[in-house]
Amino acid sequence: MTRTTIIAANWKMNGDLTLVDQMSTALNNIEVAENVKVVVCPSFPFLAALTEKIAHDQVYTGAQNMSEHEKGAYTGEVASQMLTNLSVQYVILGHSERRSYYGETSDLVADKVKVALSAGLTPILCIGESEQERTSGQTEQVLVSQLQPVIDAIGIDAFKDVVVAYEPVWAIGTGKTASPEMAQETHAFIRDYFAQHNESVAQQLPLLYGGSMNGANCENLLAQADIDGGLIGGASLKVDEFPVICSTAKGI
Ligand code: PEP
Repeated sequence: MTRTTIIAANWKMNGDLTLVDQMSTALNNIEVAENVKVVVCPSFPFLAALTEKIAHDQVYTGAQNMSEHEKGAYTGEVASQMLTNLSVQYVILGHSERRSYYGETSDLVADKVKVALSAGLTPILCIGESEQERTSGQTEQVLVSQLQPVIDAIGIDAFKDVVVAYEPVWAIGTGKTASPEMAQETHAFIRDYFAQHNESVAQQLPLLYGGSMNGANCENLLAQADIDGGLIGGASLKVDEFPVICSTAKGI
């Protein structure tokens, strides 16, 4: 069974046109293994410029969020069709910062995933537990509570066009990476949960790890059987580090 390996950059609310120039130049020259895709997700204002500058057939762009509405009077929002109009192909949905700072519920995230798929975007659906949830033994229950509304909204078969990113909240931006073994154990749980619904969807689903992944720890994380790539914040802003992570990914 081959699965696509995806190395995705989440610039969050960082970066500028200089980074767009430097990162696109660096990524246009990388050598990546067959079956590896790279996705760079800058803030909305930089999506058009970055998408135009990317000239590598394994490198794509993505947004960090989008509206659950298709169009209309929603001041400040960005619609799925606006992203496809720019030839953007991916969108991060349900990032823990959206869930905690902007009150996004799993039901809202499910609506967004549905709208993204109908527009032809590939959602990168983020799920993950807090430190308190992990220490109190609730990790699996939390992950299921984040996944099930999306499965109910789009149906299990639609997950053939979805990427899932497991991001333990306590590891995001903290420098505290989950150990490769702990991350693998949770990824195996997630894949098994999908397998209970549909074995072939589960086997094809790219499952990314996110949480302080960097040039030093990516090789061991990416070597795990059920880790099919990374969603990378801090290290994705570094022009001398992110391309190295992309080239380290071997593909499956
Ligand atoms: C993220 O924001 O998705 C993330 C994983 O950030 P960092 O790599 O900085 O922990």
